[in-house]
Amino acid sequence: MSKFKFAMYWAGSCGGCEISVLEIKEKILDVDANFDVVFWPAAADFKYKDVEGYDDGFIDLCLFNGCIRNSENEHLAKLLREKSKVLVAFGSCAATGGIPGLANVANAQEIKDLVYRDNPSLDNPEGVYPQERYTMPEGELELPHMYDTVKTLAQTIDVDYFMPGCPPEAHQIATVLDVVIAALKGEGPLPAKGATIGVAPKTCCDECKRVKEEKKISSFRRIWEFLPDAEQCLLEQGLICMGPATQAGCGSRCTTVGMPCRGCYGAPEGVVDQGAKMLSTVASIIDAPTPEEIAKIAASVPDPVGTFYRFGLADSLLRRARV
Ligand code: SF4
Ligand code: SF4
Ligand code: SF4
Repeated sequence: MSKFKFAMYWAGSCGGCEISVLEIKEKILDVDANFDVVFWPAAADFKYKDVEGYDDGFIDLCLFNGCIRNSENEHLAKLLREKSKVLVAFGSCAATGGIPGLANVANAQEIKDLVYRDNPSLDNPEGVYPQERYTMPEGELELPHMYDTVKTLAQTIDVDYFMPGCPPEAHQIATVLDVVIAALKGEGPLPAKGATIGVAPKTCCDECKRVKEEKKISSFRRIWEFLPDAEQCLLEQGLICMGPATQAGCGSRCTTVGMPCRGCYGAPEGVVDQGAKMLSTVASIIDAPTPEEIAKIAASVPDPVGTFYRFGLADSLLRRARV
């Protein structure tokens, strides 16, 4: 029996999701035993024309990581959708826009100005900006068109499954691969289309071992300002911890080592907007008798967009700032 066909692609991605697949250690042997890799530019020298030559549905499983930042990302998303039976939005950037989605507080021109004009570490006296087309003696060079708004994968193409995490945890990747391999062999069902996979029920708080006492807080602090207690809930110590508004699945990895959860597993089931959910949690634990004091405490929340929407601005009800 011939092997199933596997593809992996990075769009607006840092590359961490690609590496996370290798963290499944010996489980990678199951991937090798069951799949032929037919497209994985980070791992081998595949060309886009290789994919264009495949029949529709030729790829059995495609793990697509990274957001849709530019025209090249969009082209590959649409091409891989055509060629893939099962396509997974793999990692926070593909599933909810991720860190690159924070760029939705600006537009493309503002970002280019920041990088090529207002950047103190850049020596660019002639104010050269990248050109989408440039003619050289050897021919015309072309860069992808950068969009004003970062999009999630599902805002661009039909997605079969969502697997959050920045990056997804190795044990969750291994579990998902087992399920998909069994389904492709006809030995088990695939999850329902549109499901979020590689996660656990409830929230990160439910996986966290820290002690919760339902304390109120009178100010917020940043992690470098003090040494948090090793046992107590970090939120109750005044650190914004996104655990109450974050899907379980990672084993509360960050809080275990003393760092607040940043929310990379996205909103829990049934929550539409992760940031709004966290804002309402924060509002419920502020200890202040007057509106003025409440406003003062709320203003002590550092970097509200980057805190409440670090991984999900592109997928939120806000989606982007008006610019
Ligand atoms: S989800 Fe995280 S690890 Fe994966 S591409 Fe995005 S930033 Fe990198
Ligand atoms: S808020 Fe953070 S530290 Fe507190 S229980 Fe939830 S995950 Fe743990
Ligand atoms: S604790 Fe939060 S930020 Fe850390 S890996 Fe888990 S979901 Fe992501």
